[in-house]
Amino acid sequence: MPATVLYKGPKPPLGEKWCFLCVAFMKAQYNDRHQEDIDRANNTPDGEVIHFDLTAELSELPPLEVAVTLGLSGVLPQAGALELCWSHATAVKLQTPSGIHLPGPGGMALPPGMNGMGGPR
Ligand SMILES: [Zn+2]
Repeated sequence: MPATVLYKGPKPPLGEKWCFLCVAFMKAQYNDRHQEDIDRANNTPDGEVIHFDLTAELSELPPLEVAVTLGLSGVLPQAGALELCWSHATAVKLQTPSGIHLPGPGGMALPPGMNGMGGPR
């Protein structure tokens, strides 16, 4: 039976959250660096608690960024909507058929003639 493994890492700024993917990449790299310790934890008697402290190696791990949006990631789209930083949020470029006007902020897309421009009078 494996031991209980607890991780300790840096806390985000007050009121903020870390980007889901930044945390996942940091933890994956930490685990790669400590694979022997993880294997040992998996073979340690049940009931033992083993601590891993990511804060001790922050300068050697991928950086953490604050989440700025809830959205899909191009890296892991099957995970659904995640809280992501600017680097991990997917970029989207819309292509529209001609004659359709994209909405402005808070606006609404209307077909030609319904928006007061270019339609029958
Ligand atoms: Zn990120």
